[in-house]
Amino acid sequence: MSGSVEHFDAVVVGGGAAGAAVALGLARAGHRVLLLDRRPRPAFNDEAPVTRVATLNAASMELLGELGVRDSVLARRGHAFHGMEVWDAHSSAALGFDADDLGLPALGWTVEHLALESSLWEGVEAAGGVLLPDMGWRAIDWRTDRIDLHLDGGRVLGARLLVAADGAESALRARAGIAVRRNPYRMTGVVATVATRFPHQDTAWQRFNGEEILAFLPLADGRCSIVWSLPDFEAERILSLDDAAFSEALRDAFGGRLGDILSTSPRVGWPLVGRQAHDYVSGRLVLVGDAAHTIHPLAGQGLNLGFSDVRALLDAVPAGAGADPADPRALRAYTRSRRLDNELMLRSMEGLRWLFGSSLPPVAWARGLGVGQVDRHRVLKRFFALRALGQDDTRGV
Ligand SMILES: Cc1cc2nc3c(=O)[nH]c(=O)nc-3n(C[C@H](O)[C@H](O)[C@H](O)COP(=O)(O)OP(=O)(O)OC[C@H]3O[C@@H](n4cnc5c(N)ncnc54)[C@H](O)[C@@H]3O)c2cc1C
Repeated sequence: MSGSVEHFDAVVVGGGAAGAAVALGLARAGHRVLLLDRRPRPAFNDEAPVTRVATLNAASMELLGELGVRDSVLARRGHAFHGMEVWDAHSSAALGFDADDLGLPALGWTVEHLALESSLWEGVEAAGGVLLPDMGWRAIDWRTDRIDLHLDGGRVLGARLLVAADGAESALRARAGIAVRRNPYRMTGVVATVATRFPHQDTAWQRFNGEEILAFLPLADGRCSIVWSLPDFEAERILSLDDAAFSEALRDAFGGRLGDILSTSPRVGWPLVGRQAHDYVSGRLVLVGDAAHTIHPLAGQGLNLGFSDVRALLDAVPAGAGADPADPRALRAYTRSRRLDNELMLRSMEGLRWLFGSSLPPVAWARGLGVGQVDRHRVLKRFFALRALGQDDTRGV
């Protein structure tokens, strides 16, 4: 059987943004790489409707720059924003950030998943990697010097390093026997693209209303991508509304901050679950992105954490032909550097959700006081902003 095996330094399963970025980085470092996804190859065109959007921080944009795709992603309807407004419906708590005040070129970038994925796939191809869309796998042989992946249709890929970037319900993670801690929030993220009466002012807006969290993210064409986190039962009701009733409910939930909702795309609901894999490595298999962890989208950090995994993995894996990309010391270093960081972010998002989600009067009062203090205190505010934006605060304040 060994004669029919196609050998690669690394096989990446999952061509979402995290997996495609790993594949590109490894291919550029001189490894023989194959990127496989069960979906068709992502292809961007200007007429395609806006669907999934993410806000990226400066660290993620820097990674895209190093991978040579930053310009292509931004040219595909990417948008830099310079302001951020966060407020609480039940207290005076409010935080405002401005890129100029912080001495930054932007506070973040709204980018579409399709723009990211199509640019990264093109990069993998240009760097000599092999692309295999529309393909799934059905069996695995764990060997000491490689992992054999048996594909639908009979091909067998031999991987010295197998990267599981196959998303939150990772089948590879399950097959490797890696346990995962799950925290279902019993919330759904309702996502839509909307046009508003007043301009978004290149600002990311977020309103906390008890358990409900509503974000308006600015898009290049003047519309906003909204993420509305709601308890499951309420999300079910909101998802069943027609366009007019949904637009009205959305305007009210946002306190009318950007005026009437003039038009809306169809709505999509995402179940929100926090997850953390107990280990990120099993022999020659390594987890990245949502396969390793998922968090509440309230701070728009999920993919940013995924890109931090990518950066750490690319830094750890020895470069160049002949080097073993699954060197155990390198993979241990990767797990050490990422698991703790992701756990801290997971827990701080859960803490924030509790702080803003509670309508108990003392908590509401403390939150008004605490957040007000942060807003008035230049040093603290800069610290919190830069941490969330993936910026290193080494330039002083
Ligand atoms: C409502 C919502 C809003 C969000 N907003 C933000 C935000 O503003 N900023 C941010 O940073 N993050 C955000 N996130 C999180 C972000 O979307 C995810 O963290 C990110 O998309 C994960 O990327 P990934 O590449 O790890 O996984 P995915 O994008 O899920 O990609 C997994 C890939 O694996 C493929 N695959 C799966 N199984 C197989 C298989 N068996 N064989 C072959 N291929 C397979 C799939 O087809 C897919 O292409 C948000 C999440 C939600 C739910």
